[in-house]
Amino acid sequence: MQRHQYDVVIVGAGGAGMRAALESSKRTRTAVLTKLYPTRSHTGAAQGGMCAALANVEEDNWEWHTFDTVKGGDFLVDQDAAEVMCREAVDAVLDLEKMGLPFNRTAEGKIDQRFFGGHTRNHGEAVVRRSCFAADRTGHMILQTLYQQCIKQNVEFFNEYYVLDLLMVAGKATGVVAYELATGELHIFSAKSIVFASGGFGKVFRTTSNAHTLTGDGMGITWRKGLPLEDMEFFQFHPTGLAGLGVLLSEAARGEGGILRNKDNERFMERYAPTVKDLAPRDMVARAMANEVREGRGCGPDGAYVMLDLTHLEPAHIDAKLPDITEFARTYLGVEPYTEQIPVFPTAHYAMGGIPTNIKGEALASNDDVIPGLYAAGEVACVSVHGANRLGTNSLLDINVFGRRAGIAAAEYAATAEFEELPDAPEQFVVDLVEGLRTSTGDERIAAIRADLQATMDLNAQVYRTEGSLKQALTDIEALKERFTRVGVQDKGKRFNTDLLEAVELGFLLDLAEVLVVSALARKESRGGHFREDYAKRDDVNFMRHTMAYRELDAEGNVNIRLDYKPVVQTRYKPMERKY
Ligand SMILES: Cc1cc2nc3c(=O)[nH]c(=O)nc-3n(C[C@H](O)[C@H](O)[C@H](O)COP(=O)(O)OP(=O)(O)OC[C@H]3O[C@@H](n4cnc5c(N)ncnc54)[C@H](O)[C@@H]3O)c2cc1C
Repeated sequence: MQRHQYDVVIVGAGGAGMRAALESSKRTRTAVLTKLYPTRSHTGAAQGGMCAALANVEEDNWEWHTFDTVKGGDFLVDQDAAEVMCREAVDAVLDLEKMGLPFNRTAEGKIDQRFFGGHTRNHGEAVVRRSCFAADRTGHMILQTLYQQCIKQNVEFFNEYYVLDLLMVAGKATGVVAYELATGELHIFSAKSIVFASGGFGKVFRTTSNAHTLTGDGMGITWRKGLPLEDMEFFQFHPTGLAGLGVLLSEAARGEGGILRNKDNERFMERYAPTVKDLAPRDMVARAMANEVREGRGCGPDGAYVMLDLTHLEPAHIDAKLPDITEFARTYLGVEPYTEQIPVFPTAHYAMGGIPTNIKGEALASNDDVIPGLYAAGEVACVSVHGANRLGTNSLLDINVFGRRAGIAAAEYAATAEFEELPDAPEQFVVDLVEGLRTSTGDERIAAIRADLQATMDLNAQVYRTEGSLKQALTDIEALKERFTRVGVQDKGKRFNTDLLEAVELGFLLDLAEVLVVSALARKESRGGHFREDYAKRDDVNFMRHTMAYRELDAEGNVNIRLDYKPVVQTRYKPMERKY
């Protein structure tokens, strides 16, 4: 077993982790631990853009952006946090520009901007061009740019190191335990500050835009430590996944003029959102699509999807602005977007919930108690800037703004703090976990349990939910957790044992699915991405509050999920009806 000591350890080398590393490593000794090679992080799959009210192509300002973020989030957004994000957005984009990110340009050479859902001028009057982009490869460019800067700054990376436990002593975070994929060796990192930037958990669903590796490890690890998770019932379903596959077609397709149509070729969004139409927020568009299908206006042999129509756009325009996603349509569905409409249906996309933090990125042990030495940023965190529904291109923004903030806060704390003692036998939990799985003779298969989990989540906890469907999901998850106790790992070796790690990841997915469903059952209202058919209205009197879930053990050692609530921070915007 190897031991390491760093002032700051960052878990994750996506956009949030590397943006944090750039700040932290300037100030103090920093290590980045990542289960993937950094440039394979999911940030690199992001397509459409990163928004900031630069006002390069039309009038705009950060206050309008804040309003849209709050309204788009169905008033569950903490408004102080949204103000920080939207005000710092302009510098966040300019910082990336200075680092060399090749943004698309206007004819005058300014950073170009395009439409995205829910982004409007003057509080909803009309759509506004706010999203900065590099064709439909914005995330790829961000990830490469940040990685190059990290290399230039000699950031120390530990690639293909899976963090499997957080070490805490007397309520303080003091280190992490990591499993090295190549050797199967364990590494203990002691640190003054630890930043979780480990991304989302879209793999609880079958139909998802998320990469295979998005298994919520950071949330799963802190959850097992008894730390809370906030607003886990809010999961975003992106309207335009390739039908049957879930592979994402960016909202930029509609930002560039694409139109959704039903089997009668009707532009149905005109009925649901007369002002902004196809550029309504994602929760509304996803529900509208599901509704068209339910009411018999879906397309295809089973009427199971709707169509995304780009055929009225010039091929040259498509090639310049949407090259990757149109290629996806050709490759995966054999559809030619120049001349044919593309079959699409909502796909699980983004976790609004996560590890609760304040605006500095400090992780919270309860409604406002900070955990000394622990930070979180990016999709793993819940600040909460996205509330009940994230606006398109606000995540690439979030990871840059709050990644930077968490990196600074972690380094500043490390400058004043001492290294704490680690617990006795710090590796024991991970040894038990890994050896338990490796030596298990159980006959349950990882892939089968995961497929069953994803099937019940798609069926019962997706765009539409009811008490009945959520209870069914919970019953199924309990049964799957029981089966998971008998899971067998076929590869018994130490080197590159991905079979073993997939079992560990499945354990996180099962835990997080359970928290999602329990939180969703208790929220008897509809808000943003959480739509309850049995409580179809938003209920501000009883539910304008964040859900805080805690893992507790009863006297027999059984896990209980206790729910508590936290007020939403409101500054200037009162809740209003969400019309677009
Ligand atoms: C297909 C797609 C398109 C998108 N398009 C856009 C867009 O156009 N605009 C926008 O704003 N948002 C978009 N999003 C959302 C956005 O890309 C993500 O929310 C954001 O990039 C997440 O960044 P992150 O740094 O938090 O996590 P990630 O980029 O997912 O990185 C997570 C990191 O954590 C590491 N990690 C995870 N678990 C462990 C562990 N146990 N041990 C060690 N390391 C670990 C991984 O190796 C990885 O480096 C898109 C998402 C998808 C899936």
